[in-house]
Amino acid sequence: MDIIHLLPDSVANQIAAGEVVQRPASVIKELLENSIDAGATEIQVVLREAGRELIQVIDNGKGMTPTDARMAFERHATSKITQAADLFALHTMGFRGEALASIVAVAEVELRTRRPEDETGVLLRLAGSRLEKQEVVACPAGTNLEVRNLFYNVPARRKFLKSNQTELSNIMTELQHVALANPEVGFTLTHNDVQMLSLTAGNLKQRLLQLFGKTISQQLLPLDVENDLVHISGFIGQPEGARKKGALQYFFVNDRYMRHPYFHKAVVECYQELVAEGAQPNYFIYLKVDPSTIDVNIHPTKTEIKFENEAARWHILMAAVREALGKYNAVPTIDFDQTDAPEIELLDSRVSRPVAEPTTSFDPHYDPFRKSPVMDHWETLYEDFGKAPERLSSRMSAGAGLYGALSPEQTVSSSANSSSSVLPSRMSTVLDTTPDYSESANTLIPEGRPEKRTFRKYLQVANRYIAASSHEGLLLFDQHRAHAAVLYDRYYQQICNRQGISQQELFPEMVEIAPADVPVLEQILPELGYLGFELDSLGGGTYAVNGKPASLDKGVDFNALLLQMIDTARDEVHGIGSELNRKLAGRLAMAQAIPAGKAMCEEEMCQLIESLYDLKDHTYGPDGKLIAVQLNLADLETRF
Ligand code: ADP
Ligand code: MG
Repeated sequence: MDIIHLLPDSVANQIAAGEVVQRPASVIKELLENSIDAGATEIQVVLREAGRELIQVIDNGKGMTPTDARMAFERHATSKITQAADLFALHTMGFRGEALASIVAVAEVELRTRRPEDETGVLLRLAGSRLEKQEVVACPAGTNLEVRNLFYNVPARRKFLKSNQTELSNIMTELQHVALANPEVGFTLTHNDVQMLSLTAGNLKQRLLQLFGKTISQQLLPLDVENDLVHISGFIGQPEGARKKGALQYFFVNDRYMRHPYFHKAVVECYQELVAEGAQPNYFIYLKVDPSTIDVNIHPTKTEIKFENEAARWHILMAAVREALGKYNAVPTIDFDQTDAPEIELLDSRVSRPVAEPTTSFDPHYDPFRKSPVMDHWETLYEDFGKAPERLSSRMSAGAGLYGALSPEQTVSSSANSSSSVLPSRMSTVLDTTPDYSESANTLIPEGRPEKRTFRKYLQVANRYIAASSHEGLLLFDQHRAHAAVLYDRYYQQICNRQGISQQELFPEMVEIAPADVPVLEQILPELGYLGFELDSLGGGTYAVNGKPASLDKGVDFNALLLQMIDTARDEVHGIGSELNRKLAGRLAMAQAIPAGKAMCEEEMCQLIESLYDLKDHTYGPDGKLIAVQLNLADLETRF
């Protein structure tokens, strides 16, 4: 007996749907693209329960005739191509004729559509690929498609949907792609009757402002290069705006969002010398190419695209980005940090590094054969800062620091005495400015502490490490990690005990949160509250900052910090609970901790190391890296 038969359409469609419709966000993408292809200038999206219950897209596009509306739900039914050759001249987002057929195979669908030139429209109701109702209706011109109970007939799929927040965040991402590709189209998004997004039609810069807020849109450099192969436009971010996580990176080709790891590398390479290690630039790059030179037919979800002449285009892209960066003059000429740092560092160790561009000054009376070379250093230093020594020392938080213990005069005189011809001058400076241990050692030994804590004195090395002598030898602490570990412990307790301390703001600032970030932020608002972030939603992605984490350093960019917190949570969406708490506490601790390069006074160092040893675990920082290294006496002996 023959056993092979053709599958009924409804089953075949359901199988095919697996490719196209994976989650509510895929439905949104397909429907939005259809509306764009239909020439819509205003598109409304309405959702219930993150798309589980309802996904509705209403457009003012060209609509369909009743017959076309019926046809639209058949597999491989499309108005966009008629022959294979058309695949190479695509000017539309869709072309497979698969989306509506797939959607209607796994959901209940209601369509109202009318062409502007027709008097009446048509209503179709379908479920599981079957037409249930068709009637003539009065409706606005355009298309209104409701998709209800997605996967109602595929329980396994429905079960695999993630939390509402995650699905909503995915939907936002898809909507963002379409909204960025079509700034001249207006969009609104309503979820459970709350309007989450309203984007008015405008130009790209306005769209970026609406989607990502002022900070990012003020840091953009325009791109504009045109030749036979490609037209490149859009914006790249200034190097200062680069982020370690969650950088906004978008490529569009012929107004279609795409991922392109190879082109991505071209952009990132241009920034290599300009941003901190691991930081990534923002970019919104639009490529226009002859459609016959690309192949968008690689994957049903169509985000990967093959280019002809990829290498040549790669170079053009790189040149365009370099040019934009060059115009902005972002390339530093000399790295002042590298020039003979140690000598300056040591003398400079009580003053934080100036943030402004370094300036060079010279002393016209300088005589290299004068007796006291160290004295010259002090003078140059003060000249550089334009401040007298007294002023400098008064800026220190405590008089007990190196500065208070030693006046410049002392330094000079002891230096003059001891700078024997045997030691190179740098070495002698180091030795001479080292405070006298014997005098103050006793006061620094904390009473009743275990032996391992009885460090005698702290010395800051290169404004980065804290050196301490212990019984076993020499300990070097990374100041940033040590402080981060202390803060982490405090923050983690705050979250776990559900009690935070925040500093109330007299005049709350507003922060704008990108639409895709809003669901993530909403999800972690309680945890953020325990960490001291008091945020009140004012709707539309705007939040009033009523409180900030107590003792937040003034130098910390609050907006950037909040974005980092959101990025951290985004990575943890599946692991809500203790992991998320740890990550959030860690992120805040890293942001708040004393940075490398910051001068610390003796008392601060002492307090820090004390607090560190009060922790249960003082071996690793919140980033999992070692806080301290020890050179024990045996190690040291081998070096002499
Ligand atoms: P494709 O977009 O690949 O052609 P779809 O299944 O998404 O396939 O849509 C099938 C057809 O239905 C489209 O080719 C188009 O003619 C019509 N259509 C779909 N959505 C709309 C809309 N919002 N407005 C007008 N026509 C539409
Ligand atoms: Mg389509």
